[in-house]
Amino acid sequence: MNISRIDLADAASPERLVLEILKHEPQLAIPVPIEELCLRLDILEIVPLTTDGYEGGLLTSADKFNGTILFNEASPRERRRFTIAHELGHFLMPSHVPSAEGRFLCRLQDMRALKGGESDRRLKMEVEANRFASQLLMPPQKFRVDVAVGKDPDIRQLSAIAKKYDVSKEAAGRAYVKFREEPVAIVVTQNDKVLRDYRDSLKFPRLSVPTGAMIPAHSLLLRRKHEIGVPSEIDETDAGVWLHVERGRQSAPLYEQVLLQRQGFALIMLSREAASGDEDEADEEAEMTSAERLKRRLYPDR
Ligand SMILES: [Zn+2]
Repeated sequence: MNISRIDLADAASPERLVLEILKHEPQLAIPVPIEELCLRLDILEIVPLTTDGYEGGLLTSADKFNGTILFNEASPRERRRFTIAHELGHFLMPSHVPSAEGRFLCRLQDMRALKGGESDRRLKMEVEANRFASQLLMPPQKFRVDVAVGKDPDIRQLSAIAKKYDVSKEAAGRAYVKFREEPVAIVVTQNDKVLRDYRDSLKFPRLSVPTGAMIPAHSLLLRRKHEIGVPSEIDETDAGVWLHVERGRQSAPLYEQVLLQRQGFALIMLSREAASGDEDEADEEAEMTSAERLKRRLYPDR
């Protein structure tokens, strides 16, 4: 690796930083050697956190001359990699300023923040650090090609991609729903409750099942038996199970696939055919603010 911090001097956004890194390291391996990259970019060491309740941290001075990255040792490797990339994002983003004590401390929920922050500086930094980590670990040019493989969206493909890029299925899923041509949503559940969902709001309509609610009785997870770690077949489900469907209106088919995981967790992939979903698009556009619409046009990859 030849890259150094000087090469990134003009980059001020997560997208620009990743572009510059990839420009200077065109042969960057997959999975991205994140720790080696950090050490090239003035991170002195990457060490376990000693403060409970946090997933990652960065110790640095206001001038960010160099830094130390902290990670939660108890987390799985894939998640630690994302955390380290996230902290590198805080280090490299010129607008991210450490606290008066010279540090950033990030919780697990910060690592999942995907939007917002227009009026909350701290949240904005978390969202940006996540964009940086996601694009650095899953470089869009390569990731796009892997996501396009296969006739239909499929959890087996998502698992293979997560393995290839050495990221969690959830982190891969967040990028998958953006890059896959078909409208796809990933729903994370635990003990039959919806914890969170990821979708591209321009392609996939909002779910009718809110966060924290029990998953619908007619969903594939509940209407069949599943084996832990074995993705189910892709099954057609009545769209009304997961989506708002106006009475009397013909809805495009909705497909559902389930991966039961340990500790009561499950991933549910919802998908539709590429040509469908148009009827919902206008509604979603209307929900967006003009700033979001503009961002959407400027950065269609997000
Ligand atoms: Zn953070």
